[in-house]
Amino acid sequence: MKDLGVNNLIERTRAAVWHPCTQMKQLEASPPLAIARGEGAWLIDTEGRRYFDAISSWWVNLFGHCNPRINAAITDQLGKIEHVMLAGATHAPVVELSERLAALTGLGHAFYGSDGASATEIALKMSAHYWRNTDQTQKNGFMSLQNGYHGETVGALSVTDIPLFKSTYAPLLRHSVQVPTPDARLADPGESAEAFALRCADALEAHLAEHAATTAAFIVEPLVQGATGMAMYHPVYLIRARELCNQYGVHLIADEIAVGFGRTGSMFACEQAGIKPDFICLSKGITGGYLPLSAVLTTDAIYTAFYDDATARGFLHSHSYTGNPLACRAALAVLDIFEHDQVIAANRIKSLEMTGALEEVSAHSRVRHFRHAGMIWAFDVADAGPGFATRFHAEALAQGVFMRPIGHTVYLMPPYVITPSEMTLLAGRVLRALELSLAA
Ligand SMILES: *Cc1c(COP(=O)(O)O)cnc(C)c1O
Repeated sequence: MKDLGVNNLIERTRAAVWHPCTQMKQLEASPPLAIARGEGAWLIDTEGRRYFDAISSWWVNLFGHCNPRINAAITDQLGKIEHVMLAGATHAPVVELSERLAALTGLGHAFYGSDGASATEIALKMSAHYWRNTDQTQKNGFMSLQNGYHGETVGALSVTDIPLFKSTYAPLLRHSVQVPTPDARLADPGESAEAFALRCADALEAHLAEHAATTAAFIVEPLVQGATGMAMYHPVYLIRARELCNQYGVHLIADEIAVGFGRTGSMFACEQAGIKPDFICLSKGITGGYLPLSAVLTTDAIYTAFYDDATARGFLHSHSYTGNPLACRAALAVLDIFEHDQVIAANRIKSLEMTGALEEVSAHSRVRHFRHAGMIWAFDVADAGPGFATRFHAEALAQGVFMRPIGHTVYLMPPYVITPSEMTLLAGRVLRALELSLAA
């Protein structure tokens, strides 16, 4: 066995691995953590140092690392069948997961991919194909929210609106339209989040009134726009978006890849607006952060438009690992934990406790727009200065906390297994990291 010491591992990763969302040259100054194992909400490096995983390993982990119940489900499945292709075959884990996701979302006909971006691609293609199958081929355009994020493959990037990720690839992308974001921080002074959201919905209507005939779908991140920096908005926007999409005959795609599975306080964020989208995209937390899996569910009406003798009217999209049994078993174990532990109700209490623990942070003189939704907390830092995110990241690591601020926005998205004493500890360390990164 080769030397797995931390320095050796970091050298080798730099030589052999191209890390995601990373300028590799910066790894010289800030090397990645060399993680040997995980335990609950903690990551443990090869030297035995412990880091609290305050962002749930890019928002995917729900019930901690090495969760015994999810481990057991995957181990059991390993002894049965690890994978079989889903064209021409089926298996119990994918059938049961599809039934349970349908019961939870009120949609059905689960179509699987392996990551969030492919779920976006699937929803966009299904929507445009639906209009084609119903003889409205001109309806193939897409709309999304300003500052929205839906993944980074070429199709998903076309409806994403984050210049840092998008501009470089602009020549590769298909045009799409962005309508004003209801991000409550952008409200006029004295204007409520709700009034602002309604004003943004008017802009949505103005666009639909003119372009519905060439628009297939409107894709949104319900309640929280994650990647732009946890922008939060009032649910009335989703209510209006649902009404307007009905009125103008445009599909509503709810990208719940980040917010699904309890993140905003309800199982799915759309529930807080009492709406049902035409498509829901799920991924990230679906397997509790264990295995790559995504799903798109839709309505009977849309499904029926594909159901035909003609092969080409069917949805001929596929991925090699579609409906992977191990990933489906992990997802089923996650749903069991939600039910058995009454996680949504338990998180309501945890959410209040964590907000309480962060009181000193929210009252800090440089903190602006402290906000939270369910198990997500975020705040902006005034006069953060250039390099703030990097400084904060380093100071937090020195405190034993793994976080990656987005620009001048600091956010926390801890695994749901966080305990009250971990909340106190985390809040204290965040405050200290904030003070140190501002003093530097
Ligand atoms: C993360 C994310 C995606 C993309 O998922 P990947 O698995 O990273 O491809 C899409 N939409 C939203 C809202 C996300 O947060």
